[in-house]
Amino acid sequence: MKKLMLIFTIICICFTVNVYAEEDVIIRVGLYYGSSAKDSVEINVDGEITTYYPDDIDGQVDIVPEEFVKVNTSQYRGSIRLVRNSDNKINIINVVDIEDYLASVISKEMSPYFEEEALKAQAVASRTYAMAHLNKHKNDGFDVCQYIHCQVYGGVSMENPKTTKAVDDTKGQVIKYDGQLISAVYSASSGGYTESAVNVWGNDIPYLQAVSDEHEEEDVFGHKWTYELTVSKATEIMESKGYEIGTVTDIVINETTERGVVTKMTIKGTKGEKVFKKESCRGVFPNHTISQAFTVTPVGENTTIYTTSGVANKSEMYILSANGLSKSILNSVSFLDKKGVHSVPQTNYTKFVFEGRGYGHLVGMSQNGANGMAKQGYDYVQILTHYYQGTEID
Ligand SMILES: [Zn+2]
Repeated sequence: MKKLMLIFTIICICFTVNVYAEEDVIIRVGLYYGSSAKDSVEINVDGEITTYYPDDIDGQVDIVPEEFVKVNTSQYRGSIRLVRNSDNKINIINVVDIEDYLASVISKEMSPYFEEEALKAQAVASRTYAMAHLNKHKNDGFDVCQYIHCQVYGGVSMENPKTTKAVDDTKGQVIKYDGQLISAVYSASSGGYTESAVNVWGNDIPYLQAVSDEHEEEDVFGHKWTYELTVSKATEIMESKGYEIGTVTDIVINETTERGVVTKMTIKGTKGEKVFKKESCRGVFPNHTISQAFTVTPVGENTTIYTTSGVANKSEMYILSANGLSKSILNSVSFLDKKGVHSVPQTNYTKFVFEGRGYGHLVGMSQNGANGMAKQGYDYVQILTHYYQGTEID
């Protein structure tokens, strides 16, 4: 039976080569590989089910259906490639026309219930992103993975008539700057203003500049947000990431862009401190800072020292001793009164409150902003050239 399948497969491969027209772009999507590679997989080709084990695969097998193919229960367009990898497991790759790939991607990356022009903008951005990253997983033996690392893809079950229409209506169109495909990055929401790539990733890219995003609606997820992080949770997260700074005592924002995007932040602890820059300011507490645009307010007791002129700034306090004036190190200073010795504690915060705007990296197209623009009557070309300045749709 398996031999028959192989022969069938080989015949089908020859058949496929002729099926695709020259202008069609084929993309190889890694479904399972590396740690998600399979010990066995059930493939349903046009209703005929075969279970493959690594030993059944001599290098690689291409399975090309006449009508449909399923990997376990998930249906995919195009063909399925099984590769026996060096761990003697099966990598599973979907070899598919990029337009079919996009119909699934769009509905995973943007709600199918978004406006038609926003879905078309997403289709062109996703197509451009995919075309520009065809070699992203070259070393894994395919082009893109099915996860958020590339673009989220779910095969036929994720397609929607609205997303398929958006892909069809923009067939083959991509975004170019200076005649080259752009890196069409996008995020869910900007909260009112996108950010330039240089302040997030460090590379100054002419078409990825900060732009106003005033059409984004206020009730979308991530437009404005507040999250609380307890000191114990902050400490636990820092420890889990290998930063040995002891108990977190303070979180200080050192630098922001003019739009309030944090570009330098210090997390202080009882045993040291750690400085974060650019995108890592968002990444350290990703569930509490869902974008890089935020403020932080510590909550809890803080020792206050009053003087005749008001509250003293502890960082500007000095100690007068027989040897003269010396800078105070507050956590080593103690006071003596009738009841005994009292040390001056450092800040004694119990939690930090983050308030911010936007969801994601904030660079390039804001998906909710694109939807807002579409509702205001802008078309997909106007939407794309707003977020990707100086580009053209080709
Ligand atoms: Zn990937």
